[in-house]
Amino acid sequence: MNGTPSTLIRSETDGAPSLSAALFIAGFNAVAQSHHTAMVSKGFWDEDRNDSEALMLIVTEIAEACEAIRHGNPPDDKIPEFSGIEAELSDAILRIMDLAQGRGLRVAEALIAKMEYNKTRAHKHGKAF
Ligand SMILES: [Mg+2]
Repeated sequence: MNGTPSTLIRSETDGAPSLSAALFIAGFNAVAQSHHTAMVSKGFWDEDRNDSEALMLIVTEIAEACEAIRHGNPPDDKIPEFSGIEAELSDAILRIMDLAQGRGLRVAEALIAKMEYNKTRAHKHGKAF
């Protein structure tokens, strides 16, 4: 593929998602659907989920990533071919995917839109860090 990052995301002619954005969205949603189906089969959706609880479980995965770094980022205990931070960030993304699928949230589409919006923002988005 060629072109600047912006042209890879949005068509210059009609503003529709570009091929790479469309592929990302389709891929993300396919993986999310597969993961959500697995989580349903494991009983995580037997009762209606509490959204705040689901969001905090995403936060706990980020905290686990921080702990991995604090311990020198060793290989993950479940998938040792990856480091702790790699495994924990993937856990966070999987939890996001599961929640998105369970609630019909368009996270992949929003990600592309937000990435494009962020390109228009000020240096450090106008903040100190
Ligand atoms: Mg984890």
